[in-house]
Amino acid sequence: MRIGIDLGGTSVKAALCNDGGAILQRDSVPTPVGDPDGLRGGMKTLALRLCQMEGIAPDTVSSIGLGLPGSLDKANCRLIFGTNLDMRDVMFGDAFQPEFSCPVKLDNDANCAALGEATAGAGSRERHMLMVTLGTGVGGGIVIDGKLYAGCNDIAGEIGHMVIRQGGEPCNCGRKGCLEAYASASHFVKFAERALDAGRESVLSINKGHLNAKMICDAVDAGDALAIELFEGYCQNLSCGLANLINIFQPDCIVLGGGLAGYGEKLIEPLRRLTFPETFRCETKNTRIVLAALGNDAGLIGAAML
Ligand SMILES: [Zn+2]
Repeated sequence: MRIGIDLGGTSVKAALCNDGGAILQRDSVPTPVGDPDGLRGGMKTLALRLCQMEGIAPDTVSSIGLGLPGSLDKANCRLIFGTNLDMRDVMFGDAFQPEFSCPVKLDNDANCAALGEATAGAGSRERHMLMVTLGTGVGGGIVIDGKLYAGCNDIAGEIGHMVIRQGGEPCNCGRKGCLEAYASASHFVKFAERALDAGRESVLSINKGHLNAKMICDAVDAGDALAIELFEGYCQNLSCGLANLINIFQPDCIVLGGGLAGYGEKLIEPLRRLTFPETFRCETKNTRIVLAALGNDAGLIGAAML
């Protein structure tokens, strides 16, 4: 039995899983923003409650994994800085003692989502898998031989900050032309707002100033010329990044998750069409581009599998 905990800005979600990543019990509490002791205590209470619900003793749990947003010191099980948590320097290694004696591991939320999909989701029958999360930013996780690749500094997998256009759009990381600056939902919206500011006509103008990615996808479905043009540009930029990843890693599959993946096959089909001609391919086996299967549970299951 394993416990996974997914810490977000609004809630702390926890699940008791078996070794195959199936969720047996789950529970959650609101995130005590700005209160590290409250967070540590709340996590332990959740873990104890899961054991009680399943009728098992806490010392039979073999590992506890935490998926955290922010910068981490994994070796010392420490959150250095939490995004949207108003917390710094929180130690988790002893947070579950004395009731739990198992090791506590942590990783960032994007890596946990990748490991979750690799264990029990869209990549569960594959050895080598990449996950690309298309949300507010572009997150990523690299799973090689079923294990997360962490690199020499434990922070590998920043797929969103691969430059696809030298000197291109400014990115939040400080570089220019990153994949994130073209393929995140927020930049997709930014390009739409920019086109409306330039006077382009579109059904999107009704919602100018508070557009979201779903509205643009709906406008594509309605045949709006500007939305179609923006979406084609989006797919071209994302496929450039995906082709780079395939040429470097030759993964069995790339799993797409996050809000924009909700557009489903209508996103996947043009991506396959644009990506594959740019890749090195062989006769027998080629990378599959697929949608994530676990939704919001991916991070929770992945944390349990750390
Ligand atoms: Zn960047």
